[in-house]
Amino acid sequence: MIRAVLFDLDETLFDHRAAVAHAATAWTRTLVPGHEPPAGVLALWLDLERRHLPAWHASECSFAEQRRRRLRDFCGRLRLPLPADLDAAYAEFLVHYETAWAAFPDAADTVDALSGRGLTLGVLTNGEPVQQEAKLRRIGLMDRLDPVLTPDALGGAFKPAPECYLAAAAKLGLRPTEILLVGDDRERDAIGPARVGMRGVWLDRHGTGHTGGPPTPPRITSLRELPALLT
Ligand SMILES: [Mg+2]
Repeated sequence: MIRAVLFDLDETLFDHRAAVAHAATAWTRTLVPGHEPPAGVLALWLDLERRHLPAWHASECSFAEQRRRRLRDFCGRLRLPLPADLDAAYAEFLVHYETAWAAFPDAADTVDALSGRGLTLGVLTNGEPVQQEAKLRRIGLMDRLDPVLTPDALGGAFKPAPECYLAAAAKLGLRPTEILLVGDDRERDAIGPARVGMRGVWLDRHGTGHTGGPPTPPRITSLRELPALLT
């Protein structure tokens, strides 16, 4: 019996991609006034996140350092002038990013639909805790989701390491089989948790489907499909 639902945050409750699309364009314009950013800045930014975040996950560099590495590559790939102070430049990027913070339209509705069922409703995110909690406050879900679990509080284990899910279950005081995790990353949010006995649900917002063969975790294309899975 499921007693807790854990949501991933970025691209699950929180529209990270839209906020990055706004910020990457706006910030690039400030670097070279009058120069229109090329198409593909969003794809490049998201690709550099995928390339550089793992070094932080593996404790090979600090959270701030992986941000500097992303900016260096971003400017290099677009042939933009590299800011002298990368931390200050990233802070300027964050101003643009934060102005565009928003939830997906189905996020609050789904939390509403699951409330009152006696379930613990929380968050399990690979992000940095201060920023992730600020996002949840901005989108109005901080007071409605508890706990908010990040690797900082889970022995430094990131999804999809089994230790991450097991530490989350321990924090909840539940067996893994009593927990459902839902998120946009098929491996981290659906296949990984299933390896330790959790119920993992893949939120395939873009309807890309999967053609890579098994395993094929439960798949939904909107959070609004989630309550029906719990009846
Ligand atoms: Mg995500």
